[in-house]
Amino acid sequence: MFRTKTVYGPVPSWRLGRSLGVDVVCREKKVCSFDCVYCQLGPTKNKIKEREIFVSKERIKEDLSEVIGKIDADVVTFSGTGEPTLASNLGEIIDVVREYTHLPLAVLTNSSFMFNKEVRNELKKLDIVVAKLDAPNSKLFQKINRPAEGLKFNDILEGIKEFRREFKGKLALQMMFIDLNKGYADEMAEIAEEIKADEVQINTPLRSSPIKPLNEREIEKIERSFLHLNAISVYKEKKPITHVYDQEEVLRRRKTVS
Ligand code: SF4
Repeated sequence: MFRTKTVYGPVPSWRLGRSLGVDVVCREKKVCSFDCVYCQLGPTKNKIKEREIFVSKERIKEDLSEVIGKIDADVVTFSGTGEPTLASNLGEIIDVVREYTHLPLAVLTNSSFMFNKEVRNELKKLDIVVAKLDAPNSKLFQKINRPAEGLKFNDILEGIKEFRREFKGKLALQMMFIDLNKGYADEMAEIAEEIKADEVQINTPLRSSPIKPLNEREIEKIERSFLHLNAISVYKEKKPITHVYDQEEVLRRRKTVS
């Protein structure tokens, strides 16, 4: 039976610092509601949109107790082999992790369930929510994120806006720019402003991906649309140095430890 650790890293994140990962999905193959064209984890075989329990909180406790106290990290991040908000026990797991650490808790989410009040309530327990937004309209959303049937761009956008109104922590928007959306930076900046995000993270797929990343000049052009906002950009930010606890667990999820 496939059995891997639910806790991995800390990985060097240009957005979050030294980030200890907690994988609440923890499957051999990615589990996601999207099939983004640039996904470093490969194609999504079966897109799902029903929440379920993938990993018990007891298992998370067991894995955390092995690591906490032995590693240096700046943040604990819910991320890994799929979309964390698909885990219906995410809220309970967040409570468990809080008991183990005083570090800030973050999530990387694809935003697909932000329209769901239950999900928003769970995410409100965190200090930092990094929400994906790669498209300014439904047509591009379908092309880039290739969502599970029934997931609609407008619902997701409204969900993020509603979450912003409710959430007192830091809300960052992660925007992955590739050839398909590089001409839409102004529209994306307008939406980020409407949302009132605390930060915009301008990214392009630099880690192993089926899609070619944009070069520095192309990203600089995009940055100009975000000058009036608090934006950080992948080519400019420095990655911290980390001492990875278990390289195999990191490679399973990121294809690289750097
Ligand atoms: S949301 Fe993340 S895990 Fe899911 S397909 Fe997109 S990039 Fe991959």
